[in-house]
Amino acid sequence: MLLEGKIAIVTGASRGIGKEIAKSFIAQGATVAFTYISSPEEAKAVEEELTAKGGTARGFWSDAAKFDDAENLVKSVLQAFGTIDVLVNNAGITDDTLLMRMSEDQWDRVVDVNLKSCFNLTKAVLRTMLKARSGSIINISSVVGVQGNAGQANYSASKAGILGFTKSVALELGSRSIRCNAIAPGFIETEMTEKLDPATVQGWRDTIPLKRGGTPEDVANACVFLASDMSSYVTGQTLNVCGGMITA
Ligand code: NAP
Repeated sequence: MLLEGKIAIVTGASRGIGKEIAKSFIAQGATVAFTYISSPEEAKAVEEELTAKGGTARGFWSDAAKFDDAENLVKSVLQAFGTIDVLVNNAGITDDTLLMRMSEDQWDRVVDVNLKSCFNLTKAVLRTMLKARSGSIINISSVVGVQGNAGQANYSASKAGILGFTKSVALELGSRSIRCNAIAPGFIETEMTEKLDPATVQGWRDTIPLKRGGTPEDVANACVFLASDMSSYVTGQTLNVCGGMITA
């Protein structure tokens, strides 16, 4: 029970990695407020799954890209649960194409959902964490943010931006015992990758030193560590959860 008594917000937890983070947090004793935007039915099912064994969780419709939505979300979470100890900025999208074909809209939406969301949510929880003089903020970046990727200029720029934001927040708020770290997942196998050509996916696995794709649980475990007091002397860092894909 590494997160006993902690209240956490996880953005984008109707599926994929966010859902697994929410599940792991509940298993470790946290109360979880999670968000979604286009999947109300999936969100309801996640809420039911998380609360089935006596856990406390609630889903909130909230667009992470919108400043006012983040403010309203935090107000609702404070009303429901009283405080916020952990924030996981997980909501993210891709809209891949070569730069030559990329529209301004494709750039703006990806940067807003992936990067501006971190600003929106972090600003919104700040007053509460400052008052408590404690808190852990975890931003989900990507190995693509560390090393770039052809066809993902918008996505990799947003994920690299998260790393700069994370380090700056850690430096600004360290003296108040608020920690801020990033996780950079590599190739994580989700329902989405199940639809891809198996030979292509196997080719990706073969290039990874640990010879397998990551699981959402692999990322969730790293989140539990960074959310918990086990990492109380860790801030401003990027934890690559990528099977050794990158070693820098
Ligand atoms: P996913 O399966 O596509 O799930 C994305 C989640 O974000 C969904 O719950 C979605 O909600 C939510 N979301 C999307 N836009 C949102 C918005 N504007 N406001 C609030 N919620 C929003 O993605 P994933 O693969 O689990 O990825 C999760 C995070 O890990 C992302 O930041 C991604 O960039 C990062 N990551 C993933 C991988 C990978 O291999 N999967 C690798 C590196 C990094 P709805 O269902 O309601 O739309």
